Amino acid sequence: MALPNPHLAEIPAEGLHAVCEVQPEELGLEAEDARVEGALTLSADIAPFEQGAHVTGVLGGTFLRQCVRCLAEFKESVELPFTAEYRRETPPPRRQPQSSRAPGRAGREGIESRDAAEPDEPEVEVEADDLHPLVGDRLDLAEMLREQIILATPMQPLCRESCLGLCPVCGQDRNERQCGCPEERQDGPFAILKRLQGK
Ligand SMILES: [Zn+2]
Ligand SMILES: [Zn+2]
Repeated sequence: MALPNPHLAEIPAEGLHAVCEVQPEELGLEAEDARVEGALTLSADIAPFEQGAHVTGVLGGTFLRQCVRCLAEFKESVELPFTAEYRRETPPPRRQPQSSRAPGRAGREGIESRDAAEPDEPEVEVEADDLHPLVGDRLDLAEMLREQIILATPMQPLCRESCLGLCPVCGQDRNERQCGCPEERQDGPFAILKRLQGK
């Protein structure tokens, strides 16, 4: 089964459940975004509402990363839970403003007229990050999943928390063995310079 790209009209009222494998290329994922080993797995529930659909699910995969301390490549298996909301860009024709007296109300039952005369208040929406436009009434899951992967990619990947990194003097991977270079704490880079100048 390919990555679903459902049209709103194709989503039944009870929703859709999709399980599939996704190739990184299907998401437009570039090597600089994240490197993936093999295929990703997607499990998603798509639930429609009047103006769009909610998608919740888990994206799983094995990512290839490079440790910023020791420069070793390592694999990381990731299970990425996500929620996203797809909504038509055109605002609904008429919306019942939320009453400040009942901030917890979902506003769905808003045919009551008690707060119709109150001025519009800013609506509490899902975070903008989770909101996606519908493209021709279709849910573009690819772009959303790509964003999820990029957001979950660490800026400073570490092969392990306790990684000892490379020796700044001789470049030895100190996870493999101690090189015995003198620890010159406050002048790591200068130690290299001194050595170079000494030659
Ligand atoms: Zn490391
Ligand atoms: Zn060393």
